[in-house]
Amino acid sequence: MSAEKHIRLLSDTVINQIAAGEVVERPASVLKELIENAVDAGATQVDVELVDGGRRKLVVTDNGRGMNRDDALLSIERHATSKIRAADDLVRIGTLGFRGEALAAIASVSRFTLTTRTAEDEAGTEILIDGGRFREVREAGCPVGTSIEVRRLFYNVPARKKFLRAPATELNHARQCFLVHALSRPEVGMTLKVDEKESFRLPAGDDMLHRIGALYGTSLLPSLKPVSLRMHGLKIGGFAADPTVHRRGRGDQLFVVNGRPAAAPLVYHALNRAYGDLIPKGRHAIVFLFLEIDPALVDVNVHPTKREVRFRNGAEVRDLVIEAVREGLRGSGSGADGAKAS
Ligand code: ADP
Ligand code: MG
Repeated sequence: MSAEKHIRLLSDTVINQIAAGEVVERPASVLKELIENAVDAGATQVDVELVDGGRRKLVVTDNGRGMNRDDALLSIERHATSKIRAADDLVRIGTLGFRGEALAAIASVSRFTLTTRTAEDEAGTEILIDGGRFREVREAGCPVGTSIEVRRLFYNVPARKKFLRAPATELNHARQCFLVHALSRPEVGMTLKVDEKESFRLPAGDDMLHRIGALYGTSLLPSLKPVSLRMHGLKIGGFAADPTVHRRGRGDQLFVVNGRPAAAPLVYHALNRAYGDLIPKGRHAIVFLFLEIDPALVDVNVHPTKREVRFRNGAEVRDLVIEAVREGLRGSGSGADGAKAS
């Protein structure tokens, strides 16, 4: 038997890059994490900038509470979070983030600049990181809030860079991510700039319908039926489009659970049931649904991307969605405009 050791602990840089594989798949996943952080920081304005589909440059700027120098330095460490303290907190998560992984992961696979300031501090802090290697921290003049710039995603991980698609495809994913967050928080002002050109400017304090109109075109609004139902402590609201409008994919089916845009196979199932034969086979309804539920009944920690949620009472949620959408579609039929007036 040889006494030589074969097992080594990995360096933090390598650990972060491995973790990045789970959290960061493409520019859209970076965007998702940064928008979530902005919302968690209480921002009322979030500005997004993409160059080359986010591959060359992706910037998210918010007017949230910002970070002081010490917090800023901690924020890019793995497993550093201000959002939970103990495993117990996982059963009642009120923030979008909680794993403390995103910034460390993103910074390990890009050229990363964090600029931030709190209202209490006169000077802000700027931190530069290159592929997970700390470069510089300095004072910076900047407004209250946080701006994170991510350049050349995966420049130091060729194996992953290969999997990035054409700029137009990456842009589509990123735009979809922007859309979903813009819809899930109509009260937050958001802008999207694509290759130096403004493509959306959504005012703060929007209501849902106005925002849907701004994102999808106002011609959709008359087709939308309000959905609203309470059952067994669950609450569901939102809009379901008349079955005469439908799409090829599920891209226009938004499902938000306690403020978190979520994928839940059970809901797709429920929507198929609710619309039944009203929609041609292979087509999908347009639906914007907001579910409020006791956080203890939802598991959001299913996957590192936190995209999928699971329900403790899945059957109840499914039935509520079916019932709510059916009722909405049966409704007086005056469309969303009429509903607003009533
Ligand atoms: P998580 O969101 O899971 O806590 P992140 O790696 O995304 O993990 O962020 C780490 C920490 O950095 C957050 O808990 C938060 O305290 C801070 N942070 C990140 N982004 C922002 C932001 N835009 N504004 C203020 N604080 C932020
Ligand atoms: Mg986060």
